[in-house]
Amino acid sequence: MGDTEQRYVKEAFETNWIAPLGPNVNGFEYAIKEKLGNSVHAAVLSSGTAAIHLGLQLLGVQRGDEVLCQSFTFSASANPILYLGAKPVFIDSEKDTWNMSPLLLRQAIENRIEEKGVPKAIIAVHLYGMPYKVEAIQRIANEYNIPVLEDSAEALGSTYKNKACGTFGDIGVLSFNGNKIITTSGGGALVSKNKAYTDKAIFLATQARDDAPHYQHSHIGYNYRMSNVLAGIGRGQMEVLQDRVDSRRSNYAFYQNMLGSLKGIEFLNEADGYYSNRWLSCILTPSFEIRERLRLALLDENIESRPLWKPLHLQPIFNECKQFSDGTSESLFNRGLCLPSGSNLCRADLDRVTDCIKKTLL
Ligand SMILES: *Cc1c(COP(=O)(O)O)cnc(C)c1O
Repeated sequence: MGDTEQRYVKEAFETNWIAPLGPNVNGFEYAIKEKLGNSVHAAVLSSGTAAIHLGLQLLGVQRGDEVLCQSFTFSASANPILYLGAKPVFIDSEKDTWNMSPLLLRQAIENRIEEKGVPKAIIAVHLYGMPYKVEAIQRIANEYNIPVLEDSAEALGSTYKNKACGTFGDIGVLSFNGNKIITTSGGGALVSKNKAYTDKAIFLATQARDDAPHYQHSHIGYNYRMSNVLAGIGRGQMEVLQDRVDSRRSNYAFYQNMLGSLKGIEFLNEADGYYSNRWLSCILTPSFEIRERLRLALLDENIESRPLWKPLHLQPIFNECKQFSDGTSESLFNRGLCLPSGSNLCRADLDRVTDCIKKTLL
C-alpha cells in the first residue's frame, strides 16, 4: 500500500458511504480515466472476471456462439465464455510478445467462417504486462468485423506507442485482484471509449433495475459493482501506480543484467513502441528439465518461483474446445519460469535469487 489508501477508506467510514456507490467509486473511475486517457470511460466492478463476463455480453455473445481467445493466459480470461454458454476457440501465441498470434488468428477465423460462421468476439491478452501485437490483431478484427475484448488485467501501466493498454479493444478489462500490480484486494474495471458500454455495464452490475419507482426488471442483473470502501483503496493505489511499474521494471532490469549472459537463459525484450509494466519477471530456460532444476533449487532456499501460465488448450476443463496451436505456448510453459517479482523486493532479495540461479546453472 501507499500513503493515502487509508485516508480514502477513513473518509468512506466518516461519511457513511459503505455501499457499492459513493465518492470513492466516482473518484476511482475518474483516476482510471485520467491514467488511460480522457477519451476512455470506466466502470469499476467487483473483479476483472466480472468485467470480462459483462464485456462479452455487451459485445453480444450468446449461448452457442464461438469466441476466439488467447490460449496462453490465466483461466479467468476464458471462464466467462463458458458462463454465457458460448464456446472458446483457443489461439496460440507468437514468440515476439508471447501473445495471440495474428497468423493463427486469421487461420482460425477463416476456418470457423467456413465451418460454422463468424466468431462473435476476440479476447486478446497483454500477458505479464507485455502488449500484444495491437495493430496486427486490430487489422484482422476490422477486416472480419469482429469486436475485440482486450484483457488488460496484467497490463495496467503498460503502453503501446505511448497509448495505454486497456484502450485498444472495443472493451478493455482491468483487474485489481490481490496479485496484480496495484490492488483493491479484489476488484476490476470495464473500460471503453464507448460510454454506452460503461453505462450498460454499470446498469447490469447493479441488478439491472429499470427506471421505475418500484423494482422493475427486464434484464438479468448482476451484483458486480465495486464497494465504495475498496474503491478508496483503489484511489490511493492509483497514486503509486507509476512507482510500482518502476519497481517492477527495475526488478526485470536487474535480473536481465545479472542473468542475461548465462548460456541458455532468455528474456522477453520490448520491441520498438512496446512498454511493459513487467508485472512478473519471466525467464526462458533451454528445457523443462533445466526449468525444474532451477525451480527446485530456488525452493530449496525458500524462494518461490512459478512456471508460466499453462495454456488453456491443455487444461482439462477446456479439453473439448477447438484450438489453433503450433506448440509455441506449450514450449513457453515447459521452459519458462516467473521469478520473484514483488514491488517491494530489496537488493538483498534480488541478489539471493540471482546467486542461487547462477550457482545452479554453473
Ligand atoms: C487476474 C486476471 C484476470 C481476472 O481478474 P480478477 O480480478 O482476478 O477476476 C483475468 N485475466 C488475466 C490475464 C488475469 O491475470
